[in-house]
Amino acid sequence: MENLLEVNDLQITFHTYAGKVQAVRGVNFGVKKGEAVAIVGESGCGKSVTAKSIMRLLETPPAEYGKGSINFGGKDLLKMSEKEMQRIRGNEISMIFQDPMTSLNPTTKIGSQIMEGILKHNKNMSRNDAYERALETLKLVGIPQPEKRMQQYPHEFSGGMRQRAMIAMALACEPKLLIADEPTTALDVTIQAQILELMKDIQRRMDTSIILITHDLGVVAETCERVVVMYAGKVVETGTVEAIFSNPQHPYTRGLLKTVPRLDMEKTAPLVPIIGSPPDLLDPPKGCPFYPRCESAMKVCKGHDPELEVVEEGQTAACWLHHPMAKAAQLQAPTNV
Ligand code: SF4
Ligand code: MG
Repeated sequence: MENLLEVNDLQITFHTYAGKVQAVRGVNFGVKKGEAVAIVGESGCGKSVTAKSIMRLLETPPAEYGKGSINFGGKDLLKMSEKEMQRIRGNEISMIFQDPMTSLNPTTKIGSQIMEGILKHNKNMSRNDAYERALETLKLVGIPQPEKRMQQYPHEFSGGMRQRAMIAMALACEPKLLIADEPTTALDVTIQAQILELMKDIQRRMDTSIILITHDLGVVAETCERVVVMYAGKVVETGTVEAIFSNPQHPYTRGLLKTVPRLDMEKTAPLVPIIGSPPDLLDPPKGCPFYPRCESAMKVCKGHDPELEVVEEGQTAACWLHHPMAKAAQLQAPTNV
């Protein structure tokens, strides 16, 4: 199936007082229609910046796009005018954030906010129809007593309900793609599960494509079909959820998995954090960016950055361990890590 979204060699630099931060360094991935893809990695790996660039929400400057493209429905979003983007944002691509308060206006009733969004993208719709659509959307996201809730302000909603309202707002125009950046991080575990289940349900019912940005691999398994693992501004592994969980091919992915509690894990198996921290993207290393933290590092890793290669069907990884010469190299050059 054709991709709805295709990110090709995306490069994003931030001009700061300290210098140029290379936040995204040649990222490639695609999202098919109706597919849910997770982008996973520690904070600062470039996942949120990638998400924002799809919505063209980065201010330029300080941000600067290098070569590369983001094709959506056959058009390059990076080449669109701001006016064209305004038509796409909220209408064809919507985004929800960790903190609903960044998207909800505290001084406007929830119902009016949702209706505003609908009317903005449907210029010929009557207010009555917009009201009905808003009501339907609140029902869709499982908000009880939606008529009453329409008349309330964001502060009258609980955290979980606010998140639902924000999802309702994002969905009101039936976008083709929903981008959720850490949508459940601020919520307690039960509510978190409900919101993820809600997103899954919407994806099934409306055939919406979803990009879920998260630092927590634990929330990915139930929600997504495919995973893109990012590290230091690059994609280091991609694969189906099943492949990533049962057969991870990159040492960083393996490290991430050890930080997640799992049902199939032996009760005694400890959760192990990955030691060390990601490299400074003001001055990215020449070799594999995971080298200083990698238990399997070889000599070659320090000087040469591995490319993303197919390692199994439908699974890619950027790691020298998959190079045919790796075995020999490992024997010949024990690491100094
Ligand atoms: Fe580790 Fe080398 Fe693979 Fe990088 S390329 S993840 S340092 S083994
Ligand atoms: Mg983030």
